[in-house]
Amino acid sequence: MAWYVDESNLNKSDGNKDWWKHWYGPSTKAPVSGIYKCLGCKREITSNADDPFPPQNHHQHSQTQGDIRWHLIVRTDTEGTA
Ligand SMILES: [Zn+2]
Repeated sequence: MAWYVDESNLNKSDGNKDWWKHWYGPSTKAPVSGIYKCLGCKREITSNADDPFPPQNHHQHSQTQGDIRWHLIVRTDTEGTA
């Protein structure tokens, strides 16, 4: 789980945008910049908008952890607008 010191740096989202609702496979394109968490192992990565997620061999899962799937947990404000 990600850490923070000062919660005034975070905005609560209503989660209605598509990028909050989907899981993304290895090497697919990140819809927005932010912190993404793997469904199977809870590992977190940062990814920039339009960059590909890490390839399938980025890390290994046990059989019970299933496929690597990335989910957006924190969207970063790269435009400084919020
Ligand atoms: Zn994983």
